[in-house]
Parts: sequence; C-alpha cells; structure tokens
Amino acid sequence: MESLEHARHRMVERQVAARGVHDPRVLEAMSRVPRHAFVPPELAHEAYLDSPLPIAEGQTISQPYIVALTAESLRLRPEDRVLEIGTGSGYAAAILATLAREVHSVERHETLAREAAQRLADLGIANVHVHQGDGTLGLPELAPFDAIAVTASGPRVPPALIEQLAPGGRLVIPTGPDHSDQRLVLVTRAEDGAIHEHEICRVRFVPLVGAQGWSHDEALPPSS
Ligand code: SAH
Repeated sequence: MESLEHARHRMVERQVAARGVHDPRVLEAMSRVPRHAFVPPELAHEAYLDSPLPIAEGQTISQPYIVALTAESLRLRPEDRVLEIGTGSGYAAAILATLAREVHSVERHETLAREAAQRLADLGIANVHVHQGDGTLGLPELAPFDAIAVTASGPRVPPALIEQLAPGGRLVIPTGPDHSDQRLVLVTRAEDGAIHEHEICRVRFVPLVGAQGWSHDEALPPSS
C-alpha cells in the first residue's frame, strides 16, 4: 500500500498545484501538515482524497484544494496574525499556522474546539489558540487581524469581521443564499480603509451559525 506521506505529496501535485495554486510556501505547508491526523481514525486512508470528509458534530474537514486556495488568497506573511472562524478538525488552522506568526481559531462546538486544541498540541503546533464561541462576532479583544479565514458559509460577510481587519488585511469567506449557491469571496481593506470584494470561485461549505450568520444548523442541509 502507498505510504500516507507519498499520498500527501501526490495530493499536493495533482489536486493543488495542477489546479493553479503555485505559492511555494502554501505547497510546502500542504506537503508538511499530516491531514490524516485530523480525520477520524477509520478514515485515515481517505485523508488524501480530493474531497471533504465528515468529522464529529455533523461537520466536515474541507477539501485540501479549497484549504490551499484559501491560504494562497490570504497572501500570508510570516509575521501575520490570523483569525480563523470554524476550527473543526484544526487542519486549516495548522496550515495557516505554518504560514503565519499566530492563529486564533474560533469554534462553536465545545467538543470540536477541545479535540482540535488537543490534536494541535499533540502535533507540536504551538502557535494556534483555539477559542470556543460564536465566531461571527470575531475576537474584538484581539483585533485587528492581518488575515481572516472563515470556513463555514453565511448569508453575508459578517460586519464584525470586516471591522476587525487591519489596514491592508485580507478576509476569505464562503457566502451565499443557500447550500447550492455559495461563492468563496476575498474581501480586502486597503491602507486608506476602502473595502473591496472579489469572487474567487463557487464552493460548498457547512453553514456558519451565529449572531451574524444563519440562525440554525437546519438553515441549510448538512454539507459535503
Ligand atoms: N477549518 C475546518 C473546517 C470545519 S467545517 C477544518 O479544517 O477542519 C466549519 C466549522 O465551522 C464547523 O466545525 C462548525 O461547527 C464551525 N462553525 C459554524 N458556525 C460557527 C460560528 N458561528 N463560530 C465558530 N465556528 C462555527
């Protein structure tokens, strides 16, 4: 059987680089972080497939390509402070933490937050701080952030997150009116404060549930 490490390198070549993600730092991070350590143990052999996978609480770990595309779109520098909304398994947080100085990641489900924090600690990833709570409100006490990644889809870009973006900051978020109509959007704040939005691609994420997101999990059917 092919080794997990070999499968990971093939994933980076065929699913990520072949689709146009070329930032060498992002490719390196995707080659290093062991995605199989973030999926349920019985799915470890599927960890390098081209798809999202189920985790606890009816949530998903995102497709590797989408994690890479999000990381590249955020144009992270080693000194950046990053906010992630939707810790889930902790996989995307681990990728972002490889590219930036520190990551504050907010997860709504207490069990997922606790398990992700433990998993990251076991892997020796010390620059991710997991917080339990409603990430649609961001973390005002730790703002501003150079980059913000939202890994669940809301009806709109939460105004609280735009407010917590530093001048020159980048925010990537999936938004859309329903499960089958979502776009990954890049929001940037120019040095003069002006906000710009740019659509990256069509996507499918689990719902962002909170004060500035959907009001229930049932707002959208469970996602792929
Ligand atoms: N980045 C994750 C993807 C997890 S799926 C990974 O790499 O595994 C999206 C996550 O967003 C789910 O765990 C869900 O519980 C969480 N979520 C949804 N709404 C949220 C909110 N308002 N605040 C924080 N987390 C939220």
